[in-house]
Amino acid sequence: MITTSLAAKTALVTGASRGIGLAITKAFLEHGATVHALSRSQVDPATVSAADSERLIHHPVDVSDETAVGRVVTTILDQSEGVDILVNNAGITRDGLIMRMSTDDWRKVLDVNLSSAFFTSRALARHMIKRRSGCIINVSSVVGVIGNPGQANYVASKAGLIGLTKSLARELAGRSVRVNAVAPGFIATAMTDRLNDEQRSAISARIPLQRIGTPEEVAAVCLFLASDLSSYVTGQVLHVDGGLAM
Ligand code: NAD
Repeated sequence: MITTSLAAKTALVTGASRGIGLAITKAFLEHGATVHALSRSQVDPATVSAADSERLIHHPVDVSDETAVGRVVTTILDQSEGVDILVNNAGITRDGLIMRMSTDDWRKVLDVNLSSAFFTSRALARHMIKRRSGCIINVSSVVGVIGNPGQANYVASKAGLIGLTKSLARELAGRSVRVNAVAPGFIATAMTDRLNDEQRSAISARIPLQRIGTPEEVAAVCLFLASDLSSYVTGQVLHVDGGLAM
């Protein structure tokens, strides 16, 4: 029977300390995986059950730091039987209209959101190719498909992740490594906390399902993509947006 079980699987999740990354980490742990959490701050132990916390290993790292990411991935590969799943989830925003956007804000967002996924994917590609199995999931965004004013840097990074996903899917498919992206719409996390009630109502009115989504709803799709349920799915961008970008 094909199931969502990730028993005996090892996952590496970036930006795991809160929001969507934390929900993915918890879903993977609940389905039996060992999870290496790469984020600047640690996952709050109180959010994970005692049994699951035994399979959670934290690695404090800035994912935009190429050398640090390479070092952490080498350590994980040395200490584990192998990595089966990579989720590139860490992300930031530095919004502004193009005329006022600083080069620093442009570079910072591209570094954290896009270059980090290149660093982790490159560091694990040889390993996954050798094992002839593996799965990479990139957390993009609906705006990476449809664009958004005031977010040129963020949107470019998220569209870049889609390009990276499709290229790697083609490059690695011959070795049975699957690469997919999820494109969340508006999800209730710290990233969207700054919206006021009026903005929330206006956004909900534009969404066919008429509400903002939850991190757990994004994690459920990542669980599908990480499990054998999606064994014939690669190079895809799955929208988790309540129908926003139909
Ligand atoms: P969040 O701000 O709650 O969490 C982001 C996570 O990334 C945190 O754990 C943070 O510590 C980590 N992170 C940020 N910079 C880092 C760095 N340099 N090194 C290591 N870790 C770093 O955001 P979220 O809403 O949970 O977003 C998660 C992902 O989902 C992001 O890539 C975001 O772009 C994407 N996304 C979110 C939404 C939304 O509506 N919330 C919509 C579409 C896409």
